[in-house]
Amino acid sequence: MNTHVLVVGAGPTGLMLANQLARRGVRAMIIDRHAGPSLQTRAIGVQARTMEIYSKLGLVDRALELGKDGSGANLWAEGRWMARVLLGEAGRDLTPFPFVLILGQDDNERIMGDKLRDWGLSIQWNTELVALDQQPGHVTATLEQPDGTTRKITAAWVAGCDGARSAVRDLTGIMFPGAPYEHVFFVADTVVTGKMVPDQINIYLWRNGFHLFFPFRGEDHWRIVGILPPALRDRKDVTFEDVIPSVRREAGELNFTACSWFSTYRIHHRSASRFRDRRCFLLGDAAHIHSPVGAQGMNTGLQDAYNLAWKLALVTEGRADAALLDSYEEERMPVARRLLNTTDRV
Ligand SMILES: Cc1cc2nc3c(=O)[nH]c(=O)nc-3n(C[C@H](O)[C@H](O)[C@H](O)COP(=O)(O)OP(=O)(O)OC[C@H]3O[C@@H](n4cnc5c(N)ncnc54)[C@H](O)[C@@H]3O)c2cc1C
Repeated sequence: MNTHVLVVGAGPTGLMLANQLARRGVRAMIIDRHAGPSLQTRAIGVQARTMEIYSKLGLVDRALELGKDGSGANLWAEGRWMARVLLGEAGRDLTPFPFVLILGQDDNERIMGDKLRDWGLSIQWNTELVALDQQPGHVTATLEQPDGTTRKITAAWVAGCDGARSAVRDLTGIMFPGAPYEHVFFVADTVVTGKMVPDQINIYLWRNGFHLFFPFRGEDHWRIVGILPPALRDRKDVTFEDVIPSVRREAGELNFTACSWFSTYRIHHRSASRFRDRRCFLLGDAAHIHSPVGAQGMNTGLQDAYNLAWKLALVTEGRADAALLDSYEEERMPVARRLLNTTDRV
């Protein structure tokens, strides 16, 4: 056997799984088809439960150092400040981290990647899973290597942390039912001044959508996430300049001096029909995708990984029966389904 666990994908979910396994003494093999870490700050909100998991890995201080404490959200409507929601109040007695930490996905991945190196584990980049053959005692995985050749490796278990277009999901024939949302979202990393309450989340509500302003590290650096106005929805070539008028309409006078990243995206809401096929598991976006409202996507993947890791470690060490692994789907599928329902309603 080449490895106990083959982790497919070095996004946040795969990095968390490999770290949690290493922490419990199980060395995984972790591969990713890309050439290196993602530079995009897709997810930005780190929830309390993720911070608790980070604290077990010794990552909390670094996360707090790099992030911003989003303890309050300001609601605006028709250009007027309406209310401040204290995000920390609800969890004050429940967690040592009663806030949403504003920390980009790239920083989260860097922190977990650094920790993986501390365990002496390196990611095999430019390595793509292209085939799987499940046997009673192991899985044979075919990997395409950087030079285009393939090699076969054997693993006791395979963890599909390979995102929304998961190869593990396709190769195991697991369905991914759901549909795209009608709305098209945009995301922009900007340098901008305006009436926003500094260092806090600002939410501008309008009849057909919202614009969210998240404070980022650096002076006047804001991440804006919003819904494209209907008139722009079907255009393929939308630029940040095109959306500025609708942002200004809700957020008032804004002085933009830079936009370092702009992207539009159509989100799907889907959940895999099963999270496991014999020796292969699905985690993170490979298992469930939903609206970014509530900033839960990355967090849910990290928590999937935390749930599966200790079970895989006990089974691998022969300290628990393989039946323990059934509880992964039993516990995580209801969380994903609930999340799909609540984010759809919002
Ligand atoms: C624009 C945008 C904004 C978002 N904003 C938020 C937010 O504010 N908050 C939030 O919580 N979430 C947000 N999300 C969602 C969040 O980014 C995802 O939930 C998160 O990235 C899921 O992590 P993952 O590790 O499961 O999958 P991914 O990040 O997709 O990682 C999968 C990895 O698997 C690799 N891979 C794929 N196929 C193979 C293969 N065959 N072999 C080897 N490697 C493979 C890929 O290269 C990739 O590195 C946003 C998403 C988008 C697109």
